[in-house]
This record gives sequence, structure tokens and C-alpha cells, in this order.
Amino acid sequence: MSVLPRLKPAEVGDGVFQLSSLGARVAAIEHDGDVMLVDTGARGSFPLVAKSLASLGLSTDRVRSVVLTHSHPDHAGALATVVARTGATVGVHDDDADVLETHDDVGSLFPLLPARFNRKLSRSMYDGPVTPSDRFVEDVTLDWPDPVQLIHTPGHTPGSVSLYLPAIKMIMVGDALQYRFNRLAGPARLVTHDYAQALRSLHRLVELDFETMVFSHFQPMKRNAKQRLVRLIERLEARKE
Ligand SMILES: [Zn+2]
Ligand SMILES: [Zn+2]
Repeated sequence: MSVLPRLKPAEVGDGVFQLSSLGARVAAIEHDGDVMLVDTGARGSFPLVAKSLASLGLSTDRVRSVVLTHSHPDHAGALATVVARTGATVGVHDDDADVLETHDDVGSLFPLLPARFNRKLSRSMYDGPVTPSDRFVEDVTLDWPDPVQLIHTPGHTPGSVSLYLPAIKMIMVGDALQYRFNRLAGPARLVTHDYAQALRSLHRLVELDFETMVFSHFQPMKRNAKQRLVRLIERLEARKE
């Protein structure tokens, strides 16, 4: 995964932009000047996010909410600063919510380190603790005003969610999938909490009707994303037999 910031925001779908950040890519879903951020990037990302919003003519004062695909520090490291500077609400799945306050449970990130080093290292990767305002327990639909559906796709972390934007046939999968060298693949095993569960979660996504797939660490797949996911699942199942 690249830690270098990309300089220019890119429109990946109607009203959806990927912004500059450190660590994971940050998306902005814009409606009439109001912004929903998907993830915040790693610690220290806020100035880059603010700059790219400004370059799109958007203001950090209009960032209304942050929705997290999951709690890993490359996605939520800048959360405390984003909340302090924008007053945005924070939505995260209940199973990943405590990590944002305690920074304790990231064992899957550094599986070879003893727990206390793990905790120390993990704390150093967040701007500060955050108490999320919305803890999602089940799938929810946010009115933005076009619906943004949050689909629980556990595995990479227990509380990983994917976002589905039916109006533009897009899914945002966070770290649930990888797209390297034009090849779709399951999540990165070394940093995935429960790989088998992550693969089972993919079945939830193929029930949806989508064309575009947006990742946190790779270029978006702009066409035929659903067919390609169906083929990936077939390949993975064949390997199991
Ligand atoms: Zn990530
Ligand atoms: Zn992750």
C-alpha cells in the first residue's frame, strides 16, 4: 500500500471524489455542497483532505459526516482531527467502534508483535481517541438524499462495511478486496482478521446491482465490476474443492 499522497482529487462517479490523503484513499460524497467523507486517511491527512476539498470548491465547514469502512489506522488515523475541525458526525459499525476509543484491538495488523508493543504502536497511529456518534449494528441506509447503503461485510475486520450507492451503481469496498495489476483478489491476508469470513462476505455484495467498484488502496474498477466479482468468487470456490 502506498503512503504517498496523490495530489489531485479524482471524480470516480457522479458527485463522488477520491481526495488526497496519506494511507488509505478518502472519498467525498457531495450533495449541494454538503460532504460525507468515507474514511479519513492516516494520521496527518487532514490538511491534504482539506486542500483537495477546497480545490473542488467544497468547504470543510460543510463536512457533515464521516462514515468509516473500518477502524484500521490508515483509514481512521486522522479521524480525531477531522472531527475537531469539522464537527462531523462519525458512523462506524458497532464491531469496530471501540477501537476508535481505545486503539487496543488491532492485533490483526501486527500479528507477530507482542500485545503491549502492538498497543503502543497502534496508539501512535491515530490522531487521538474518538467516541463515534453512530454505531451501526445492522445494515442501514443513509439518505444523502440518494440512498447510501451500508452493508456489513465482516472479515478484514469484524466491523468492516461496504457502501452501496444504487443511484450510480457503485460499491465502495474498503479493504474487503484488492485490485492489483488489473486483477481482482480477496483482501490482504496478513492484515485480515478472518480471511474465510471475508470471502463469505463477498456473497453479500454480488446480490447488489453495480457497475463500478471503488477500493481504498487501488484504482477504481469502472466497468463490469459485478461480473468480475462473480468470476472471482467462482475461482475462489473452485480452489476450495
Ligand atoms: Zn487499508
Ligand atoms: Zn484495513
